[in-house]
Amino acid sequence: MMYDFPPFRPPSEATSYLIRVVRGCNWNRCGFCGMYKYIKFQQRPKREVFRDIDRLREIFPPSRTAFLGDSNPLIHRDIVEIIRYLISKHPELERVTAYARIKTIANMPEEKLEALKSAGLTRLHMGLESGDKKVLDLVQKGFTPEDAVKACKKATKYFEVTYYVITGLGGVERSREHALHTAKVINEAKPTFVRIRNLTVLPSTPLEKIVGDVLTPLNAEQQLEELATLIKGINVRTYFTCDHVSNYLFTKTGAIFYGVSGHLPDEKEEMLQQIENARETVKVLVESGERVYTSNDMYRRGLITL
Ligand code: SF4
Repeated sequence: MMYDFPPFRPPSEATSYLIRVVRGCNWNRCGFCGMYKYIKFQQRPKREVFRDIDRLREIFPPSRTAFLGDSNPLIHRDIVEIIRYLISKHPELERVTAYARIKTIANMPEEKLEALKSAGLTRLHMGLESGDKKVLDLVQKGFTPEDAVKACKKATKYFEVTYYVITGLGGVERSREHALHTAKVINEAKPTFVRIRNLTVLPSTPLEKIVGDVLTPLNAEQQLEELATLIKGINVRTYFTCDHVSNYLFTKTGAIFYGVSGHLPDEKEEMLQQIENARETVKVLVESGERVYTSNDMYRRGLITL
């Protein structure tokens, strides 16, 4: 009997038990996303999920954390029962997490959030991507900046919340508005974590069709400038991290920038200084005729995978 693995999980869930509650994404329209394009959305039968939970110790090394996939498993009709079953079988679990759509949480009754918390859910991974309405509309996220603030305020009463942001998502055309409006949403929403991914245009996505037309990808210097503007604009307590290869900058001999991470606002100045140092390095390299590559350049050349 095969175990059904979720095809994607956040890097921070690398050592977690992975449990597939739904298959695919019930929204599946975000212009930059190719994750579940070829998977028909399905709620897995409860008995199959229970069977996978029964087999966790055969499949994974012992863990104190579990991740529920795929995208938006909280809409599963039996999600509270599934989490209760997981905890009853694995009382040692200290963290149970899931992806969740902002619109889903914004519309979810508080009683359901409370039930999910008492069942054992502890953290949500949510894709904000941008706090700029025009950028959200451009990539068809299906929610507004106001929804994003509302969802996070509701969710943080019960769970830790990660908001994912995609630098470069507004292109050169809306870089500054994207950074400033995203900082504004973060300041009002106050997520526990902010995790940065830099835009990498994937083949066969709707976004690919508008690149070079309404959206010009950032070069290395512009990427650093946008990142600095975003960090400068955040004035609430949160853990900010570029924990993904898409944030790196490269020359032909290897990576020269790995992103920044730290507690805001305490480590803000240090993080901005690291970005400033990287900007100086990029400037010197470019002036000497060296090419500096973003994740987008590297992906197109087949030199990194995501
Ligand atoms: S980004 Fe998330 S919500 Fe949007 S299509 Fe991809 S999986 Fe679905």
